[in-house]
Amino acid sequence: MERGLGWIDRHTRALCEASDAIWQYAEVGLQEHRSAALVADYLAREGFAVELGVAGMPTALVAGFGSGGPVIGFLGEYDALPGLSQAISPRQEPLVPGGAGHGCGHNLLGVGSMAAAIALKHQLESDGREGTVRFYGCPAEETLVGKVFMAREGLFDALDAALTWHPMTFNTIWSASSLAMNSVKFVFHGRASHAAASPDLGISALDAVELMNIGVNFLREHVVQDARIHYVITKGGGEPNIVPAKAESWYYVRAPERSQVTAIYDRIISIAQGAAMMTGASLEISFQVGCYNYLSNPVLAGLLEDNMRKAPGPAFTPEDHAFARAIEASFAPGQKLAALRGFNVPPELAAAVAALTLHEGIASPFDTGRVMPGSTDVGDVSWLTPTGQLTAACWPVGTASHSWQATACSGAPMGHQGMLLAAKAMAMTGYDLMTNAELLCKAKAALERATGGKRPPSPIPPDLTPPLDQLSEHRP
Ligand SMILES: [Zn+2]
Ligand SMILES: [Zn+2]
Repeated sequence: MERGLGWIDRHTRALCEASDAIWQYAEVGLQEHRSAALVADYLAREGFAVELGVAGMPTALVAGFGSGGPVIGFLGEYDALPGLSQAISPRQEPLVPGGAGHGCGHNLLGVGSMAAAIALKHQLESDGREGTVRFYGCPAEETLVGKVFMAREGLFDALDAALTWHPMTFNTIWSASSLAMNSVKFVFHGRASHAAASPDLGISALDAVELMNIGVNFLREHVVQDARIHYVITKGGGEPNIVPAKAESWYYVRAPERSQVTAIYDRIISIAQGAAMMTGASLEISFQVGCYNYLSNPVLAGLLEDNMRKAPGPAFTPEDHAFARAIEASFAPGQKLAALRGFNVPPELAAAVAALTLHEGIASPFDTGRVMPGSTDVGDVSWLTPTGQLTAACWPVGTASHSWQATACSGAPMGHQGMLLAAKAMAMTGYDLMTNAELLCKAKAALERATGGKRPPSPIPPDLTPPLDQLSEHRP
């Protein structure tokens, strides 16, 4: 893999500049036009055949190089988060007040996976070996949209394996499962009227939203322990003296298994219908998206860990350490240990890692068989093809993802270190899979055992179109 890794070393500067440019663009889900174009252009210059605008999403792309099998895919993302704009500073300083920012480090994620794909391409070329490398530019991971629609379209079907990673506070393998989820908007339609002069003529859509929330809050006692149900009120009316004619809430319903999500979701639908009945409002259900829990493939996890240990490790500079210490000074008391516990890190390892500012070692996977309290649309890919995922230290220990601190570090040089480590370990793993048919066989057998060999149905209806305007108010 010398040739491929050499390519990453020779192009470190250009790769870091690409990540920094996407960090600057800070485009939210399905609005990532400049970010996707940058990645598409980069891959096209490297000889990949690029198709931009797949699966009904202008910012989704598939790029391929080579021919024949095996077919190895690298998954990238590039969406930012609303409200997390932040300068590269250890104090909270938005670059654009109220603007979006890369608080989940998807600028690093997208470019790291792209670098792995290009490195593997160079290695295959120098070997003169048959095989296909694919890069998937997956939009709107934060709202769990991109890969779900791409999977429904069959874009991952030809893959023999998929590899990806996520920026984090330590270097290890992501071996836990994640929560399956449904995302849905409940829109209630009532009747406007003067709230003081003729309230009797009005039907409050906001009352329906509030009554629905009360019903759901009582339901919480009667769902599985690991389920998560959360909502925001996205529309609540205009002025207090007008009975709200339209109100809307947006729910995420999560649980370890899809069947549990479906059961809880069905009960929430009944509660929404009850709220409509109680108020006389009418109900419109706008299903946004659903996703599967993540199935970590043990064969790919083992390979990724070996390669993380073999790859030249993160080399944080004294400047990275100084910036990390300044970021750490902004943490709430007890944040480091609490953040590690949130990721199921066992107490002994958590205590050792919490003593560090930046994680420079490689931790063995510690959460196999556990469920991490979040969702990812990588889940949908993981049910279709053997999938491996690592995490690399891009932020100081204790940093919460989706925070201004994570945005600052994802645009700082320390983030590049984790990105380069991830790119190398993924490229090496891709090469192992290209060159060792037995490993691929074992990985596929493990997936078959986990799924019972059945192709899972898409969690979204066949006629659902991607919610392209879901975050349109956050357009830059
Ligand atoms: Zn995120
Ligand atoms: Zn993320």
